[in-house]
Amino acid sequence: MDTIIVNGATYWLPENNNDVITLVNEASNNNEIICVRGSGHSFPLIGDLETEQKSSTGKTYKYIMLAKMYAVVMPDHNTVRVQAGCHLGVDPFDPTGISTVENSLCYYLDNVGTNAGDPSLNRALPDLGGITHQTVGGFLSTASSGGSTQFSFEDAIVSVDVVTCQGGHAAVTTFTKPTSGDPDDPFYAVGIASMGLFGVIVSATFSCIPQFYIEGSETIEYADKCSLINLFGTSPELPNMQTFLEQTQYTRLMWWPQQNNVPNTDLSRMVVWQASRTDQAGAADWAKHAYELMGEKPSADGLKPYEEVPYFLGSPIPANIAANLLYRAIGQWPTWLKNLFGEKNHLEYEIIKLLVEGNYPTKIFPAIMDIFVTVDTPTNKNKGPQLFSDRWYTGLPMDNQMSDQLMPVWFTELWIDINQSEQVMDKLKAYYDAQPITIDLSFSCEIYAARHNDFWLSPSYQQDVIRIDVFWFGYNQGDPATFYQSFWDLLAEFNYRPHWGKYIPDTVNGTPGVTYISARYPKWNDWMTLRNTMDPKQVFVNDYWRGKLGIPVV
Ligand SMILES: Cc1cc2nc3c(=O)[nH]c(=O)nc-3n(C[C@H](O)[C@H](O)[C@H](O)COP(=O)(O)OP(=O)(O)OC[C@H]3O[C@@H](n4cnc5c(N)ncnc54)[C@H](O)[C@@H]3O)c2cc1C
Repeated sequence: MDTIIVNGATYWLPENNNDVITLVNEASNNNEIICVRGSGHSFPLIGDLETEQKSSTGKTYKYIMLAKMYAVVMPDHNTVRVQAGCHLGVDPFDPTGISTVENSLCYYLDNVGTNAGDPSLNRALPDLGGITHQTVGGFLSTASSGGSTQFSFEDAIVSVDVVTCQGGHAAVTTFTKPTSGDPDDPFYAVGIASMGLFGVIVSATFSCIPQFYIEGSETIEYADKCSLINLFGTSPELPNMQTFLEQTQYTRLMWWPQQNNVPNTDLSRMVVWQASRTDQAGAADWAKHAYELMGEKPSADGLKPYEEVPYFLGSPIPANIAANLLYRAIGQWPTWLKNLFGEKNHLEYEIIKLLVEGNYPTKIFPAIMDIFVTVDTPTNKNKGPQLFSDRWYTGLPMDNQMSDQLMPVWFTELWIDINQSEQVMDKLKAYYDAQPITIDLSFSCEIYAARHNDFWLSPSYQQDVIRIDVFWFGYNQGDPATFYQSFWDLLAEFNYRPHWGKYIPDTVNGTPGVTYISARYPKWNDWMTLRNTMDPKQVFVNDYWRGKLGIPVV
């Protein structure tokens, strides 16, 4: 079996289920712990595991990547079975170099009919996250989800095949959605949010829907002048946040919550991305309309893809580079300035530092916002909000064009009952309004939603949710967990459930994080009991999940 070294960890690259079974049996016999990596997009989880190399119990980690297990088959026109190492879309930084657009799940589905000579059989999944670099196994394991209360990825799952290690012997176990819909069926423990703790997911089966397109808009406004949502109770004629999240098919809000220190001038922005389903003709009409407004010729393919950043020579990379330089300069302030001046020029360093820091909140940061988060005007390039139309799998993941390496973003994401949307927004606004504009607070806060499901440890277990996703620029100095602690404590009263693939609190207002989190899940104990039965030797329990979930050592 081949191996590859990623960040100092040696990963086995199994090619089929038997290889995975062999690896799990070896781990069981040799007292090792299996650590699976998908595309490594869960921070700090995957990095921590790669650094540790062994558990505090003394057991060595056995690392596995399913990069060679990406086959896709369709047993019938509406069902797809995919190996868990398959990426949803291309992962541009896949360390094995195997991931391509063409071998990704979404591309396969979108073209499956055309390739068979009948485009009417092209297929889709109901929803996708903001990026599609993830593997199927990783996306399922952390209950990742797109921004919709109306459609969900989770609703499409029919079954998962998992290499488990019951009784110390590895074997493939299939968990299938019960036709009865019984929410107590083990399928709902394992299919989503199993964190790799039941075993290695080797494949999954999804129910597909007909291919679709999307049409939509992105509106950039000052938050206190938002024309789409009654954000803070001052525009009662508009839908409130909950209603907006419930009525909009697909949406994502990017809130730049910084309050201006200059009286009577606006600063805080709300960027509202929203889209609805359409067909190819609808997408083409929408694109034509958008191009007409812009005074440009329609594109040859009849679509008008969303541009998250201004494109230069047809590419988002130059804007990514500019943002990288700027955010690195902010994030690593003032270390680079100090290095630039050296010990000998300490006085000059102090003068410039004082000058910059004195002007940062009132002049420098507002100027950055004007350049990078420019409020719509009737005379801008789009003649108002940006309109876009696209295929489902290139349009829904609106953040694919941001580079994971140039603009790495880490998150903590708190999922809260959607009925509390207004109260959460008010609480956050009061918090942000009182904060000075610091380096850590120079970034945005994403707000979106997720649809309820019955998966026991899904953060949207049996409730639609509003998701508060606080951003941290990956090249910032300092510890994101320290920054996030304020949010974990502030929003504790809303009984949030944290996203499993993002930063998870170790404490909440002084209470152990696991005490707070476990109380949010009615089926927590059932999940734990089933997990212990499926993995009695704890072959799949690494230190990260042991700590976050409070799994005692056996
Ligand atoms: C830029 C960015 C954007 C994001 N956007 C969204 C979004 O819009 N919505 C959202 O919900 N989340 C989002 N996420 C979070 C992301 O979806 C999760 O972190 C997801 O788990 C990453 O998938 P992965 O393939 O990288 O898995 P990894 O991060 O590699 O692994 C995640 C977990 O899954 C386990 N695992 C992976 N594969 C298997 C397998 N085959 N069997 C068993 N266990 C396995 C791993 O052991 C680990 O515990 C985003 C993350 C980033 C960095």
